Amino acid sequence: MPKSKLNVKLLDLTDNALALIYASCRQCYSAEFGGDIFEKIKEDRKKQAAFIAKIVSSGHESPLEHVKFTFAVEGVSRALTHQLVRHRMASYSQQSQRYVKENDFDYIIPPSIESDPSALEEFGRTMSAIQGSYTRILEMLAKKGVSGEAANQDARFVLPQAAETKIIVTMNCRELLHFFKYRCCARAQWEIRNLAQKMLSVCQENLPEIFSAAGAKCVYLGFCPEGERFTCGRFPVKEANKKT
Ligand SMILES: Cc1cc2nc3c(=O)[nH]c(=O)nc-3n(C[C@H](O)[C@H](O)[C@H](O)COP(=O)(O)OP(=O)(O)OC[C@H]3O[C@@H](n4cnc5c(N)ncnc54)[C@H](O)[C@@H]3O)c2cc1C
Repeated sequence: MPKSKLNVKLLDLTDNALALIYASCRQCYSAEFGGDIFEKIKEDRKKQAAFIAKIVSSGHESPLEHVKFTFAVEGVSRALTHQLVRHRMASYSQQSQRYVKENDFDYIIPPSIESDPSALEEFGRTMSAIQGSYTRILEMLAKKGVSGEAANQDARFVLPQAAETKIIVTMNCRELLHFFKYRCCARAQWEIRNLAQKMLSVCQENLPEIFSAAGAKCVYLGFCPEGERFTCGRFPVKEANKKT
């Protein structure tokens, strides 16, 4: 039952991503066939990037939906994935607690607990106690003839939000930019913020023309919309949110 560490791996990215977004933008304003536009400009990244930036900054974001990133994620808690799957413009495949037995589950330790010896001891004790309960419940159910996923699906009710999980997530570029606006913000919970920052780094590495300037909302706005109570101080708070 060891503690677990965040791991994010890019599994797939749409081929010819920039050319595809460019052709999609261009098609809107061109009499030409998109197939021909795509073939002609496939190599000229600078021209594509400049045109895309102009179109996207005007609010015309749907061409970004044609390109998708797929990530495999492990070493995250169920508390994180509960937040992640609230983002509906995405596809998910998550490890099941019905089909996968959790009799030796890994877990995530929040940094505030990890850095406090007493809290850490309490946390570890609780994880061991839960492990014991889970295993004993499975044994009790087995005596009644309930086993396999029928037993797992009920025994899992005692598992903690800290339990480690694995998930594959696919988001298109429009949704990724939206996701980063909210989850790279200092106000986002630390674990999903760490995940968002790792995903952003992968996106910046692979498609800098779209993601180099991406990040929290304030990066685009030039001010913090969160108000004085929640601001991290990176940007000034919007005047309207300031207490008078
Ligand atoms: C700091 C923070 C704190 C939060 N706290 C809470 C909380 O306390 N409780 C809680 O329940 N949630 C909370 N959330 C979750 C939040 O309310 C959203 O559910 C989550 O961030 C997903 O955002 P979304 O709906 O914009 O994204 P997505 O589902 O990814 O959707 C992207 C965009 O598509 C459009 N869209 C998607 N679905 C619809 C629809 N059905 N109708 C119309 N437009 C749609 C919207 O423009 C939306 O912004 C919190 C989020 C953050 C970042």
